[in-house]
Amino acid sequence: MGHQPERTCIGCRGVFNKADVVRVVSGPAGPVIDYREKLPGRAAYVCPRRDCIEKALSRANLPRALHTNVNVPEIDVFIDTLASAVREKMRSLLTMAARAGMLAAGASAVDDALQKGRVEMLIFAEDLSEGTRHKLLTGGLPPKKQTTLFTRDEMGQMVGRELVGVAGILDKGFSDTVWSESERLKGLLNKHL
Ligand SMILES: [Zn+2]
Repeated sequence: MGHQPERTCIGCRGVFNKADVVRVVSGPAGPVIDYREKLPGRAAYVCPRRDCIEKALSRANLPRALHTNVNVPEIDVFIDTLASAVREKMRSLLTMAARAGMLAAGASAVDDALQKGRVEMLIFAEDLSEGTRHKLLTGGLPPKKQTTLFTRDEMGQMVGRELVGVAGILDKGFSDTVWSESERLKGLLNKHL
């Protein structure tokens, strides 16, 4: 493990690995969430958690940290924007996994991979039938990492097919990254996925 740069959360004032906090930069119309860490300019960091975001926004910590007087976004708007960025990251990771041949897509491919114990993480579409879900979970060797996210239509788009109700990540590296994004989303939305 190399040295991980550290950043202070402007909400809780805790010091964290850079990868565990979200970068916010000053844009022309207000603070901009720079989830991919590509935007230039003065940056502030905040834990991707409602209580930290609340503190960062309510105490005017963010404008101070960014040296800007522009309006601070509403907390729900900020959280929605961040949640979309997390979903977008997961979407691109799943697309990459599919291109790398590391994603089983659709019930029969997933079932086959589950039988072989090859699935590192399962992603169920929100609109997958309970019957299919149950059948997959009882038939093979389901991994501990499971999440319910996206629609069948969205999952289909990621893998270039029409409707995909379930996908299984076959690679540990991809699954660890997707899982940490999924955990981040859970914490952010404060709900079980
Ligand atoms: Zn924090």
